[in-house]
Amino acid sequence: MNGYRPGFHNRLPPAGERLPTAAGQPPAMTTILVTNDDGIHSPGIQALEEALQPLGTIVVVAPDRDNSAVSHSLTMNRPLTIQQLAPHRYTVDGTPTDCVAMALKRILSSRPDLLVSGINTGANLGDDISYSGTVSAAIEGTMYGVPSMAISVGGPPPFDFRAAMRVAGCMARKILTNSLPSDTLLNINVPSGERCQRIRVTRQGRRLWQNTIHETLDPRGRPRYWIGGGTSLGDAQEDTDVHAFARGDVSITPIQLDLTNHAGIVYLREKWQLESEGGEDLP
Ligand code: MN
Repeated sequence: MNGYRPGFHNRLPPAGERLPTAAGQPPAMTTILVTNDDGIHSPGIQALEEALQPLGTIVVVAPDRDNSAVSHSLTMNRPLTIQQLAPHRYTVDGTPTDCVAMALKRILSSRPDLLVSGINTGANLGDDISYSGTVSAAIEGTMYGVPSMAISVGGPPPFDFRAAMRVAGCMARKILTNSLPSDTLLNINVPSGERCQRIRVTRQGRRLWQNTIHETLDPRGRPRYWIGGGTSLGDAQEDTDVHAFARGDVSITPIQLDLTNHAGIVYLREKWQLESEGGEDLP
């Protein structure tokens, strides 16, 4: 099939038609949307598909090339193309967020039970979350009410996905049976390797990068700059994702959509008196 044709996408049962299941089991006819930011040909997304296969119908909608560090960007300056590569397997010439939007609004005929983004090659810890296309895809799913998680494998390449695959299957099963708090996604980081160490439920820490801009010269002798690489400065606080991962543990961070600093509201109202009576005059 050349590209996407309306009405010819895979027909999935509407949510209301699910068969009853034994308590504590994922619902029958489960549909899982899988995406990533490394692109549809990444070994990480293939590992994720394999890990989730026993849990239901896997529909893959992923970028046609590497989109790492595109954050939550949406393509609005050119049209997008959906290409179907196989049954339940689509690629979009856009960002991870574009892929989730296309999957939910064009490709799937009913809302999936779960969205899983990954397995990213490289950890997404602390401040990395702001830049991450992997996590942003899960944020997009959460915004549309789909229980979502992002999973990344970290450590020196080549990456061994085996432990992350087991964690992906385990956490997907838990979300399908227990659901997630509303407006909340999971950001999961697993050390590269065969075996899992301890699981730690963490908060987002800080991770800043040093020496990430590399200067080079183009063939005409003009300076050019690469952003990437460098070394990270870890967060020493023990309850953070950065610290847990550095110890070799699996880090699971619940992330919320609401970025408001609620203590900041009190600060602005009380310390700055921003809402004080004063007509139209600025305080
Ligand atoms: Mn990536």
